[in-house]
Amino acid sequence: MRQKIIAGNWKLNPSSSKEAKELTIQIKEKIDSKELKKVVVIVSPPAIYLTQIKELTENSKIKTGAQNCYFEEKGAFTGELSVAMLKDTGIEYVILGHSERRTIFGETDEMVNKKTHAALKKGLIPIVCVGETLKERESGSTDAVVISQLQKSLKDISSNGKNLIIAYEPVWAIGTGETCSSEEANRVCGLIREELGRILGLSVAVETHILYGGSVKPSTITEQMKQSQIDGALIGGASLVADDFVEIIEKTLAVVES
Ligand code: PEP
Repeated sequence: MRQKIIAGNWKLNPSSSKEAKELTIQIKEKIDSKELKKVVVIVSPPAIYLTQIKELTENSKIKTGAQNCYFEEKGAFTGELSVAMLKDTGIEYVILGHSERRTIFGETDEMVNKKTHAALKKGLIPIVCVGETLKERESGSTDAVVISQLQKSLKDISSNGKNLIIAYEPVWAIGTGETCSSEEANRVCGLIREELGRILGLSVAVETHILYGGSVKPSTITEQMKQSQIDGALIGGASLVADDFVEIIEKTLAVVES
């Protein structure tokens, strides 16, 4: 049975470890007293804060993730972080192939694939992001783009559904305030599940969590979480506002309990 996963992506925020600590404590204080049942909460701070946030969230209901990793284990790769280094901080998840990494930093499906292999090998759960641009949506190629990204990113992967998360993030909805309609997001997530069945087998596809991401807010989450194929959300902007993030978690919990 799939749970709901609410994952925050802090991107290049906040600007100081003091603010990162405050944000974490605000979220922690509000959610640790709740019985979260089938809702998993993840925060993904910038790498420099990971150790601190991991320590702060020890014995709490908040799990931690990184926003990226490199696929090589060590060597002359200036500026990169290996999976082993991330694992050493105690974190459990890593976001891979986020559209900002693809468009701003030139990350390809092949690199996402290598990173996914590296993460799975060392027991870090990858959150693999796929999604179409506005141009691709308008030209009617959403399904082809998403399927192609999925096939290439998961090439030669073997995983069970518990160790892998996919995030459907239409690029045009990220940080724009525009959300994909819940029905359409559900349709694409269903398509992703079907393709996962072809790539990894039916039982893995049924177990794998597929998240929606793109301007998720407290006002949109309930409808999104009611969709049968959407198992949670990857959240940028709203995860930086403790009250909004907590409201998103609470509303997700209400859907799970209803
Ligand atoms: C994201 O960073 O993955 C994201 C979906 O951002 P936002 O919620 O701000 O659109």
